[in-house]
Amino acid sequence: PHNEEANAQEIFAANDGSIFDNIISGKWDSKRKNLDDVNPDVFAFHDINPTAPVHFLVIPTHKNGLSMLRQAKEEHIKVLGELAYTAGQKGAQLSPDGFRVVVNDGKDGCQSVGHLHLHVLGGRQLIWPPGVKGKELTSEVAEEPKDKYGFTIFNNLLDGTWPCDKVYEDEKVLCFKDISPQAKVHMLIIPKAKPIDGKEGFGIPQLRLAQDKHKELLGTLLYQAGRLGKEHCPNGFRVVINDGPQGCQSVYHLHLHIIGGEPLGWPAA
Ligand code: 5GP
Repeated sequence: PHNEEANAQEIFAANDGSIFDNIISGKWDSKRKNLDDVNPDVFAFHDINPTAPVHFLVIPTHKNGLSMLRQAKEEHIKVLGELAYTAGQKGAQLSPDGFRVVVNDGKDGCQSVGHLHLHVLGGRQLIWPPGVKGKELTSEVAEEPKDKYGFTIFNNLLDGTWPCDKVYEDEKVLCFKDISPQAKVHMLIIPKAKPIDGKEGFGIPQLRLAQDKHKELLGTLLYQAGRLGKEHCPNGFRVVINDGPQGCQSVYHLHLHIIGGEPLGWPAA
């Protein structure tokens, strides 16, 4: 097997995700009931060791082979989209001024349970960068734009008006290196559809503004983040989505940070 598979086996040898199975089945802690009563494919519950006033997890009700994000295949895009959508909707509801979605993968990413889970963190001003060792932390807040569907810097990268260090591109997404890297590997992956296309278009300024029709795109972004994360950070990585001022969002064109290439720390907020 490849190195990363050996690693994953090591991490999850004693952990088949049964911790979460017990929560889903209600065998453990009835207080940790499902926060999401809408979607049977998704289960959301408060983290037992919260690292922010709002800290809940969103997981697939049926693991279906998804111990880690890197394992996601195209057949998982649908459930990944549901997870991201629920994280955005619940995040906005429980932390209206902003929140952060974090997916840890593998050893370097500090993943500790072998059942894919999205952390949603909020309820206070979060800090940046998200759990990178030896980095100076800031809680500087970028102003929220008046027109969330207006022009952003990423339009220039998509147009080719400004150069970017491209990592991957297909008809739906673009992945490039962050101009201000916070770790050895720091890439961004964005939908090609621009928010400036207007509310009727496919642009998504921030996760909470994703609509039902965007679920497949959200799933594709997470799937590609897992694939690119595995390729560039075989020992693990972290995927981060910032939403709103408290989540430290600075560019209002939906983007997923892929951070790794070194052992990351925890918490990530
Ligand atoms: P946010 O805080 O909105 O989640 O992250 C926006 C990210 O975009 C930041 O990490 C920032 O460094 C990055 N960024 C902003 N402008 C550019 C640019 O022109 N080129 C590239 N490659 N990255 C950018």
